[in-house]
Formats: sequence, structure tokens, C-alpha cells
Amino acid sequence: MILFENVRLLSFNPPSVSEPTDLAAYGPGEGGASAGTIAAIGKGLRARFPQAEPAGAGGYLSPGLVCSHTHLYSALSRGIEVPIAPSKDFAQILVNLWWRLDRAIDLPILEASALSGCADAIAAGVTSIVDHHAGPEAIDGSLSVIAAAYAEIGARGILCYETTDRNGPEGARAGLAENLRFAREVDAARARGAAPLVDAAIGAHAGFTVGDETLEGLAEAVKTSGRGIHIHLAEDKYDAVDSRYRHGLDPIERLDRVGALTPKGIIGHGVWLSPSEIETMNGRDVFLAHNARSNMNNAVGYNALLPRHKNVVLGTDGMGADMLEEFKFAVFRHRESGGPWWPGDFLACLDRGNRLLERYFAADFAAPSGSQVAFGVLAPGNPADLVLWDYDPPTPMDGANVAGHLAFGMSARSARTVAVAGRLRIKDRAPLFDMEAIQRKARTQAARLWKNMEGR
Ligand SMILES: [Zn+2]
Repeated sequence: MILFENVRLLSFNPPSVSEPTDLAAYGPGEGGASAGTIAAIGKGLRARFPQAEPAGAGGYLSPGLVCSHTHLYSALSRGIEVPIAPSKDFAQILVNLWWRLDRAIDLPILEASALSGCADAIAAGVTSIVDHHAGPEAIDGSLSVIAAAYAEIGARGILCYETTDRNGPEGARAGLAENLRFAREVDAARARGAAPLVDAAIGAHAGFTVGDETLEGLAEAVKTSGRGIHIHLAEDKYDAVDSRYRHGLDPIERLDRVGALTPKGIIGHGVWLSPSEIETMNGRDVFLAHNARSNMNNAVGYNALLPRHKNVVLGTDGMGADMLEEFKFAVFRHRESGGPWWPGDFLACLDRGNRLLERYFAADFAAPSGSQVAFGVLAPGNPADLVLWDYDPPTPMDGANVAGHLAFGMSARSARTVAVAGRLRIKDRAPLFDMEAIQRKARTQAARLWKNMEGR
């Protein structure tokens, strides 16, 4: 058991700041069915739980942040020193950089990449990471390699493999099979009574690299596995144009026709979706993962229709996993576009990643009152994914201006102590995993990756 003392609870949904109080949480394997959840909140908990490990005192304690769309395989591309041909558009960026990089990934590179990416996320107060993996030369078993990295770092998340037809029908079959194999692996763990930190989704690269036969296979996998699809759609205008030209259908309509849009589904980007497609998504209760920085970096355009979406969540699309930074980019890019949203609207998007987690993980928990557990809500019985922030606000902070403090003040450097499922992973800024060895291994594998890319 861990115990935070004299902390102000910083909540995001609805935003609020409490008076100083204590919070105790069960670690893994403690408290029976309550393992990994918040045990109690109130003053003087030390007397009630004298054996609890001190986790920190003072500061602001919030739910862990969620990165709802990323690519851990790109963690070793930071500062890449490989000649990349100049790219005039998004399709050329894929061909000249990302598809050369993902073909150069083997399992040791993937392991180093996932460890480094997860470690980065946890250190930034991001306790859950939704990953979208590609590595066509090393598909089989790849999701288990990533899951092992999550386990070593102690992060929560949802994994999938980006099924695609761009490497032929065999590549597509292998991608689909890896998604299903990993989903069954998680099902088997649940059948043994485990509450896994990592679940599976059914991954696909993007509409324009997935043909009809593969799409039907994905829809079937969604049904049989009980998971959601996780796919890029209309990230660039090219994807939307291709869908209408080659298939005579809007990208969302293509997915909906085969029944691939379900409440566990995640659509990445959606910059070029039309209002009618957004209506369909809202009707199916699907998530839209908005990646403001990545959209800016790839010059794919701005998603001005965000406010029409029911379920916007935020992701980094592989550009690290610092969700406070991503939140700021989302806010300021929107302000620049003259849109109607304010920081509070984007805080709601950041918090909504918890609804995604609930749809995958809530059934693993026995909520005390018989109701469903809630992620991102500091209350007894809910999952203890927690971040203690060092922040000394120069102006008053209360529920009405939490989003303003996040947009204009707080940053990842304030993350002092981080716990996932009641298990401390960072304590007083010191990682409880071997960060130095992880980054050393990452640099070695990055050099291999870059070398592998030459000539591809
Ligand atoms: Zn992406």
C-alpha cells in the first residue's frame, strides 16, 4: 500500500482542486479484488494504514494522463541521421521516411524503442499509452515484445499492429493474425484471473493501404475479439480522395459498411472527414484521436471540425508522450485557427482518454458500490493511476481555472511521483526502473536502426 499525505487532489472531470488531504492506494496483489485501486481518501490516513509506504507529501495529486494515440516504434527516430529524400507531400513523407524506418525494425530494436518510449511517458506523468505498431519485417510476436516493455516500466495501455496491404496479402494476413494472437493472449490472462495492464485493439494502418478483403478481415476480428479498430483515417486529404475515387465511399462509410465502427474504435487524425462522416462516428460512439503537433509537422492541415465530434481524445502520434505539451499544442493551434474552443474544452479531450480505458479495462475491476469503476476519477475503488505534481501556482488555482494553469503554467517537469495501479514507478523524480540502462540500450539500437535504413 502507498500513502500520499497532505496533498491537494487535482481533478480534471469536472476540474477541481481540493483542500489538503491524504490518499491511500492498494498495490498489485493487495486488497484482494481491490488490488491496484484507491483504498481511501481523507485526513489522518497514516493512523489507519501505519504500514503504508510514504509516496509523498504536499503538492497536487492528479489522475495519470492518457496518451490515446502514439507509435512507440518511432521513439528511436528522434534526431534521425539518415539521408531522407525531400518530401513534397504526406505520401512522400511516408515512403521516404516512415516506411523505410518500419521495415528496418527487428525485435531488439522494437524492444529498445518501446522501453524508451514508455519510460519517457511515465516520467511525464503519462500512465497510459495507446500504441499503434508497424514493423513489417518482424510482425509475429511483436505485440508481446511491446507488452513486455510495458510490464518492465509498469505502464498501462492498449496495443495493436497496423495491418496493411502495402506489403502484399501475406503481410496483411500476418498483421491481422498478430492482432488476434495478442488479443487471445490477453484473454487467456484474464481467464486466469489477472487484471492485465495492457489490452489489445485491432490495428490497421490507414484507409488507403487497406483493401476491401483486408477490411472485411479486420471487421470480423473486431467482432470475434470484442475489441475496437484502431486506424488512421483522412489524416491527409489524399486518404479521403483515394477512398472516394477507388471505392466510391467516404473513408468512414467504408468502415461502417463492414461494421468496423464500435464504441471501442479509435480513428486517428480524421483531419479531412466530412460533417456527415462525423455524424456517423458520433452515432457509433467511436473515438477521434487528435494529434495537433503531428498534423502541424506533416502539414496535413488543421481539423477545424473538432468541436462537432462527440469523443475527441488526444495523442502524440509518436512525437514523445508528453501529454501536457500535446495539450498545449492542441489549445494554441486551435486558438490560432480562430475556433470556438477554450483550454477547458481540450482538458475535457485529455480527460476523455479515460473513457477509452474504461471501455477496455473497467470489467477487470469490482467496483465497491456495484457500479462501474471510473478511470481518471480520484475516489475509492477506482484505479490508482496517479501523479504527484510539484507546482506552486503564482495565482490562485481552483476548479474554474485548472485548464488555464495547465495551458499556461504546469508542465511535465512538475511530475514528481508517478504510480500505476497503486505501484510507484517514479518516486521523487527517481525512476524505479533502470532509466540509464534503457536509454543506453536505446542509443545502441537507434544506431542499428539508422544503419538498417540505409539502402532501403
Ligand atoms: Zn498515428
